[in-house]
Amino acid sequence: MTTTAVQASPSETARALGRRLQVPLRLPAALNGKVITNLSPSSAARFLACPEEWRRYYIARDRLPAAPVMFLGKTVDQAANHCFELMIAGRPHPPLSDLLDRYRQAHTDLLEEEEYAFTAQESPERMLELGAGAVRVVYEHVLPDIHEPIACQRTVEFRITRNAEWTVRGYLDLEERTRVRDLKIKGSPIGQPTANHDLQADTYLTERAIVGRPASEFIFDCVLKPGSRRKQYGYEQNRVRYADYRLRRTLVDYASVARGICDLHATRGPEGPWPFASRGLKFGQTPKCSSRYCDFYASCPRGAAF
Ligand code: SF4
Repeated sequence: MTTTAVQASPSETARALGRRLQVPLRLPAALNGKVITNLSPSSAARFLACPEEWRRYYIARDRLPAAPVMFLGKTVDQAANHCFELMIAGRPHPPLSDLLDRYRQAHTDLLEEEEYAFTAQESPERMLELGAGAVRVVYEHVLPDIHEPIACQRTVEFRITRNAEWTVRGYLDLEERTRVRDLKIKGSPIGQPTANHDLQADTYLTERAIVGRPASEFIFDCVLKPGSRRKQYGYEQNRVRYADYRLRRTLVDYASVARGICDLHATRGPEGPWPFASRGLKFGQTPKCSSRYCDFYASCPRGAAF
């Protein structure tokens, strides 16, 4: 007689793993008294890279105007989302000229609505030019590769354990029936080793598995902009395939980040400092302690404060 092992479904695995992990019931409150109720892929990645930077951003809520590259990403996203929404509705995407008009309007609107840390080198005019080039790359490389789109900018949210009062939450750029995608604008390629270890990819693949609509892969659509390292626009695609170990790794990572936050809050207090970024670099990660990658570089003892 042969016996067939019954494989646990991803949602059963997640429930069982959630019971075994020591997941804090709640996250601490920020200094303004508001309890933190969710962790996103970027928030968890920020904590893993530098707990002190996380404390300053989420507990002290020391917020500076965002970098121009965030402005660039948002405006290109808005133009791309317009196309995605049409395609989800079963309609053809607009011609490039219409898409560029929509992009320029998004640029004008966002300049009026939000404050960004523009500089002489990264001025609104420079961002407009870079964004128009990025929209062309999206049009030529990303749109033709989209198959069976079903949602864009969906809020993804799940709990690691049933009684936890906080959730993992993020926003998915584009979902297809069998794949999920994220659009990035960068100065240099992400590279496959970094993509393979990316918490964002793991998080969205995990959510689709838990809700019973598994996606076979996560695709980074990476638009490469010209700058000091490259002369022309480029496009790189990195694909991360779903595997059960990603689900386990994701849940364990969020549980340990939540535990780490609660432990540091209890032992070092909300005023900190909490541990600084480590020196170790792997998989091409960028050095964290620099004015380019950390808003708190000027005021942090590990940065330029002394
Ligand atoms: S300067 Fe370095 S150690 Fe200090 S907050 Fe920024 S990343 Fe962390």
